[in-house]
Amino acid sequence: MIKLIQICIILTAMCCISASAQDTKQLASTGSVNSHETSIPVNAQILIQAYPELNLMYVDNHIVFQDGTSIIYDDGIQKDYLNVMDHSDIDDMFSMDYLSEGNPGYLQDAGRSRCEDFFKKVYGENAKAVKQNLNDVKWFGTTVKFNRINGAAKQLQKVADEIQSNYPEYIPYMKSSGTFYWRKVRGSERLSSHSYGIAIDIAVKQSDYWRWGNPKAKETDEIGYKNRIPPKIAEIFEKHGFIWGGRWYHYDTMHFEYRPEILKMHQEKSKP
Ligand SMILES: [Zn+2]
Repeated sequence: MIKLIQICIILTAMCCISASAQDTKQLASTGSVNSHETSIPVNAQILIQAYPELNLMYVDNHIVFQDGTSIIYDDGIQKDYLNVMDHSDIDDMFSMDYLSEGNPGYLQDAGRSRCEDFFKKVYGENAKAVKQNLNDVKWFGTTVKFNRINGAAKQLQKVADEIQSNYPEYIPYMKSSGTFYWRKVRGSERLSSHSYGIAIDIAVKQSDYWRWGNPKAKETDEIGYKNRIPPKIAEIFEKHGFIWGGRWYHYDTMHFEYRPEILKMHQEKSKP
């Protein structure tokens, strides 16, 4: 039955993809999305390539999973900053570029918005489901739990191995203060990425968080930037698919999160 549904989806895709030509620049990379790659929005192509294990497809403004279920790609609603944060669809996650240097500008928070339906579908829809997807990662003399889906746990292991072998001077920053924890982002109704087991907090003592310095600030207020984490640590995480909360206007410098699609978007945008 599932096979039959998949065949129907493929046939539907062949028929209707050409009609949805909103943003159809082809990715320069040679990712094999499918033969209709050229008519898939760029951000959908980036998503599909960043989650290769899932064999995602783009069909008629939806991201379709292997089991035949789908999530709307672009709800067509124009959103201000808070609405992007609170009601992000998949396309909204790509609305801000991720900067790999310099201090973030006003409300520049690439990767801080998440389409909850997408992440629940990928990593687990509740705490119990996510727990079943957690693997142990060896982390500087201890172990931490991390989601194995789409290679997240493996990528975290690569971060640890690289710092252990090549950058021992950063080991003092590597004490984990938490990975998986099903919870909301402080002061909001949004699920934290820790809920999905794809985020790690390190070096709390050397860290800064926008709410600590601005306890009464609203999210759209102007705030100053603070960071005491060496940026080289962020570069090592980024190399392996993690974004850093220190690149956010709403800085959270202890926070690293597995978001290969955000980094891939940045690579694509940086190409000449
Ligand atoms: Zn965190």
